[in-house]
Amino acid sequence: MFISFDGIDGAGKSTQRDLLTQWLTEQGHEVVLCRDPGTTEAGERVRDLLLHRAELELHPRTEMLLYMAARAQLVDDVIRPAIAAGKTVLCDRYLLANIAYQGHASGLDLEDVRGVGKVAVDHVMPDLTILLDLPEDIAFPRLGKNLDRMEAKGVAFMHRVREGFLKEAETYPHVAVIDASQEIDAIQKAIREAVSQRLKDMP
Ligand code: ADP
Ligand code: MG
Repeated sequence: MFISFDGIDGAGKSTQRDLLTQWLTEQGHEVVLCRDPGTTEAGERVRDLLLHRAELELHPRTEMLLYMAARAQLVDDVIRPAIAAGKTVLCDRYLLANIAYQGHASGLDLEDVRGVGKVAVDHVMPDLTILLDLPEDIAFPRLGKNLDRMEAKGVAFMHRVREGFLKEAETYPHVAVIDASQEIDAIQKAIREAVSQRLKDMP
């Protein structure tokens, strides 16, 4: 099974992913954790370029293509082999993030992003995407002082990203929208229910 976590920065992805890992491991799943962009050696270098090189100007198209390149490497090196070995993959972000950030929020043509995305993921798509939904004015103050390049785009940008995620969720049945304004335990409970449901539906 392949599960991705998405949502704006500060929504609680890392917190919830760690709790879900505990639960799945207790149930006998062999969990493989990854982050997108990143995880592979090449992907981590691209991540550094994308998030931590504030001195570099990157156009939205450049940004989108770099994310996609990192993802292609992640799919081939980590995600596809893990799924084939019967493991459960939990990934921090995936293609949906590019559709929301570079598509909806930065104005790239959505069909273009989807088209490049198709090449990057090469048919490897999550069985379930947990979309942690939180108003940007709650999420933004959680981010602290050292903002990465995406976080530094500010709260109005985050608003557009959030709207983009919600719009996409309407059309994709495998995206579970979870109200992330609740207490940590209540959010985790909702996530476990969504995962249990999806596991039941799977062959
Ligand atoms: P993300 O990975 O989506 O950026 P994190 O899991 O790192 O988000 O959470 C961002 C911050 O918000 C962390 O300091 C975390 O402890 C806090 N946090 C996470 N979930 C909640 C919650 N439900 N209520 C209050 N604070 C939370
Ligand atoms: Mg995180």
